[in-house]
Amino acid sequence: MIHKPDSGPPQTPMMQQYFSAKEKHADKILFFRMGDFYEMFFDDAEIASSILGITLTSRSKEKGSRIPMAGIPVKAIDSYVPKLLRAGKRIAICEQIQDPREAKGIVDREVVRVITPGTVTDERLLGEKTHNYLASLVPHFSTRGSSSAERPRSGDAEGPARQPTSWGLAWIDVSTGRFVLWETKTLSSVAVQLDRMSPSELLLPESFAFNLGRHPDAETLVGDYFITPFADPLFDRKTARRTLVDHFKTQNLEGFGCEHLDLGVRAGGGLLRYVEDTQKASLSHVNKVEAFRESRVVPIDQATRRALELTATQRDGDRRGTLLASFDRTSTAAGGRKFREWILEPLAVVDEILYRQNGVATLADDALLREQVTGLLKTVHDLERICTRVSYGTANARDLVSLAHTLEAVPPLRKLLESTSACVLRDCACRLSDPGDLRTTILEALVDEPPLTVTEGGLLREGYSEELDELRVIAREGKQWFARYQQREIQRTGIPSLKVGFNKVFGYYIEVTNAHKDKAPNEYLRKQTLKNCERFITPDLKEYENKVLHARDRAVDLEHELFAELRERSSEHMIELQEIADALADLDVLTTFATLAVDRGYTRPTVNDGTRLWIEDGRHPVVEQIATTEPFIPNSVDLDTDREIMIITGPNMAGKSTYIRQVALLTLLAQTGSFIPAKEAEIGIIDRLFTRVGASDDLTRGQSTFMVEMSETANILNNATSRSLVILDEVGRGTSTFDGVSLAWAITEHIAGRLHTRTLFATHYHELTSITLDHPTARNFNFLVKEWNDDIVFLRKVVEGGADRSYGIHVARLAGIPRAVIDRAREILGNLESQSLDLNDKPALARKLRRTEPDREPAAMQLDFFQNTHDEVIKMIKSVNLDSTTPLEALQLLAELRRKLS
Ligand code: ATP
Repeated sequence: MIHKPDSGPPQTPMMQQYFSAKEKHADKILFFRMGDFYEMFFDDAEIASSILGITLTSRSKEKGSRIPMAGIPVKAIDSYVPKLLRAGKRIAICEQIQDPREAKGIVDREVVRVITPGTVTDERLLGEKTHNYLASLVPHFSTRGSSSAERPRSGDAEGPARQPTSWGLAWIDVSTGRFVLWETKTLSSVAVQLDRMSPSELLLPESFAFNLGRHPDAETLVGDYFITPFADPLFDRKTARRTLVDHFKTQNLEGFGCEHLDLGVRAGGGLLRYVEDTQKASLSHVNKVEAFRESRVVPIDQATRRALELTATQRDGDRRGTLLASFDRTSTAAGGRKFREWILEPLAVVDEILYRQNGVATLADDALLREQVTGLLKTVHDLERICTRVSYGTANARDLVSLAHTLEAVPPLRKLLESTSACVLRDCACRLSDPGDLRTTILEALVDEPPLTVTEGGLLREGYSEELDELRVIAREGKQWFARYQQREIQRTGIPSLKVGFNKVFGYYIEVTNAHKDKAPNEYLRKQTLKNCERFITPDLKEYENKVLHARDRAVDLEHELFAELRERSSEHMIELQEIADALADLDVLTTFATLAVDRGYTRPTVNDGTRLWIEDGRHPVVEQIATTEPFIPNSVDLDTDREIMIITGPNMAGKSTYIRQVALLTLLAQTGSFIPAKEAEIGIIDRLFTRVGASDDLTRGQSTFMVEMSETANILNNATSRSLVILDEVGRGTSTFDGVSLAWAITEHIAGRLHTRTLFATHYHELTSITLDHPTARNFNFLVKEWNDDIVFLRKVVEGGADRSYGIHVARLAGIPRAVIDRAREILGNLESQSLDLNDKPALARKLRRTEPDREPAAMQLDFFQNTHDEVIKMIKSVNLDSTTPLEALQLLAELRRKLS
C-alpha cells in the first residue's frame, strides 16, 4: 500500500521520485538508494524493520509529517535479501542512475531490478549445487464458446467451476539460462514435474491465481509454492509467442522444436516476459529453449523421491544419508547441479543410456585419463553462473579472471577427449570449443587478484591502456610531488614539524604545530584550528591537488569503462561459453560415475528394451557405504514376464525394506548411465518407478496416514504399465488387519492379473504368500534368520519361499519393551496362533465372494477366518488335487498343515 500524504507539507523532489517509483512497484519492498544506504519508507520500513530486526526511524519529523524509515547499508544487501525473500517478499531495487557529480539538483533514480525467489541469481543467495527454478503454469479449460484459455466463463463466477483439461508448464533457471517448455493433459504429470524441480516461484495467470479456490485439485497442486499472479494477456498465445521469437530473434520456434506447442508456448512466453520485466537486463545467456520430452525420462514422483531418499532423508529431510550425498563426488558446482538433474531424471531411452554408459566405461577403464580429467575439472569455476552475470552486466573482475582460468583447462581437456572411443566424450571435446583470444585478452587485461568492486580501480594491468597509465602516473607522482613540496616548505619556513596531510573535507593541507604557528608565511591561508595545531592551504597546493585528484577519479572511471568493455566482449562469446560450461558439467558427472565405479567396485549393467530385471548380488548403494556394524550382504533379484511379482515376507529387521529399495535404486542408477553395485545385471528398462513405502501423515493437506497410503496406491494402480517397476512396502497396514489384508490381497491380484507390472511387495501379512497358488507369476521370498536359543540372527539373505513368522515380539524385546509386556504378548500370540484361517478349495483370502452378495458384512467374513482348526485341516486335505499338485506345492501344503495343527 502506498502512503502518499494528500495534505501536509509539500513533498520534497526526492520523495516525489520515491512515490513515482513506488507506484509502479506497490506490491514490493522498495529499496531506495541514498548514498551508501538503501532506505525504505512507510509500510515498507515497518515491515522490513520487523522482518530484518533493523531500527525503525523517521524522516522529516521537523516538518510535522512523520515518515517511517529504515535503512540497510548497500554493502550488506546480501545478508538482508534472503530474509525478506524467505518471508515471502519481493524487492525492487531503485538505484541512483546518474553520477552525483553530474546531477543538477537531485540525482536520477530508477528501479533497475526486481528480486523475487525465482529470479535470484546471486551466488551467495543460491545453493552452489542446486538449481533455482522459476516456473509458470497455464491451465486450459475446455472452451465451448469462450476464447480465453485461462478465464472462467463470464457469468459463472459463483457456479461450479470447470476443471482444466490440459496444462502448459514452463521453467527456467535464471542463474544458468536453462529454459524448458512442456504441455500435458494430466494433472498428476504436472505434479510430478513441479515436484521434481521444486520451483522457488510459480507464475500463474491472474484470473486463475485469484480463482484457485474454485479448482480444488489445482489448488492442492500449487499450494506449497510461492505464487506470483501475472497479467493474463501476456500468456495469450500470440503475445507469448512474440515474446519468445523477439527474444531469440528467430522467425518462429521451429528450430527449438517448440512451434507445435500451444500451452507450453503460452507458459514460456509469459515466463520470459516476467523475467525481462523483473531483471531489466539483457538475457543473452538465455539463448535457447527446449521442449521437454516426457517419454525420454523416468518421472519420479514425490513419494518415490522421498521413499528412496534420493535427495533428502525421510526422517529429517537431511542431505546426509541420501543417494545424492553418497554419490556426489563432482568437482564443480555446475557438475553438482547436473548430477542432481541426472539422478532425478533417469533416462527411459536405451540408446541415450548406452551413450552415457560408454563414456563412464572409457573413463573407468583408463585410470590415467580419469585422473587427468578430474585434475583439470578441479581447476574450473562455475562458468554457467559466471555467464549469467556477464549477461546481466553484474560480473566483476574476479568473475572474468575465473572465466579465463576455466578456459585454460579447455584445450588440454579437448585434447584428452577427442581421441577416446566413447562418442559422448568426443562430443564433449567438440563442445569444448575455443572462444578465440578471450582468455588471453582477459588475463592480459586484468590483474591476478582484482578487488570485488569494479568502481574503485585496481582492476587493470599496466600496459593495457596508455591513457590509463598516464593518468595513473600523474596520480602516483602526485604523492611524490606532495612529499617534495613538504620538504621544500620545511626548508623555506624553517618549521621542522611542518606536514602535508589530506582529509576528505578540504583535501590537502599544511599542518603547523602551535609552537611554530607564528612562522607560517603570509600566503598560508588558515583553514582549521585544532588543539595543538593550525591547518593551512596555499594556491600552489590546491592547483596541484586538483590535477591529481582529477587524474585519480578519471583513472578509476576509465578503468570501469575499460572493464565494462571487456565484459561486453566476453558476452559476445556467450553461446560458446555456455556450451563449454555444459560440456564441463556433463564430463564432471561422467567422471564421477567412473570414479565411483572403480573405487566402489561397481559393474556395468546390460541395459536393453527387454522385460527382464536381473541383478546378481546387488548391494544397496547408500547402506553399503554407511554400514559400520556388519558387512553388507549382497542379494539378487530376477523378474520377468513369467515371474513378475516377488512377495517378500520375513522377520522384522531382516532387511526387506533395504532390499526392495536397493532394487529400485539400482534400476534407476543403471538408467542414469551409471555403473551399479552388483556382480552382474541386466536391466530391461522401466518407464516409471512407483513406490509406496512406510506410513506418513500429510496433515497440512488434511490427509490421514491411511488416506496417504491409499492415494499413493491408487496412483500406482491407475498409472503403472507393464514396463513399470512397483515397490510396495507394507500396503494396507494403516487400517484394521482384515481390511488391510483384503486390500493388500486384491491389490496384488490386480497387479498380477491385469497390470503385469514388475513388482516387489514386502509384507508382514503372511496370508499373502498363498496368492502364489493362484497366480503363477507371483513368487514368495523371505529373509533367512537363524534361531539360536531364545535369540535370532539375521542372515540378511533373501531366499525363495514364504515366511510364517515376523519375530516382531523378539524385535520389540531388542528395542527395550518391558519384559512383562513381552511375556504377555507371547501369551496372546499363542492364543491367536491357535486360531486359523478357513480354506475350502482355495486359500481363504483368495476365495471370491459370490457376485450376488457383494456387500457382505465384515463380521461374516471374520467368522470365515476363524473356524475350527481341525475342520479346516480336513477340508484342506480333502481338497487337494493330487494330479495337479507339484512337489513344491505339496511341501508347502504339508508345512501349512503342520503349522495349523501346532
Ligand atoms: P521391518 O519389517 O521391521 O520394517 P525390514 O525387514 O524392512 O524391517 P530393514 O529396515 O530393511 O528391515 O533393515 C533393518 C536393518 O538391517 C537396517 O538397519 C539395515 O541397515 C540392515 N540391513 C538391511 N539389509 C542388509 C544387508 N543386506 N546387509 C547388511 N545389513 C543390512
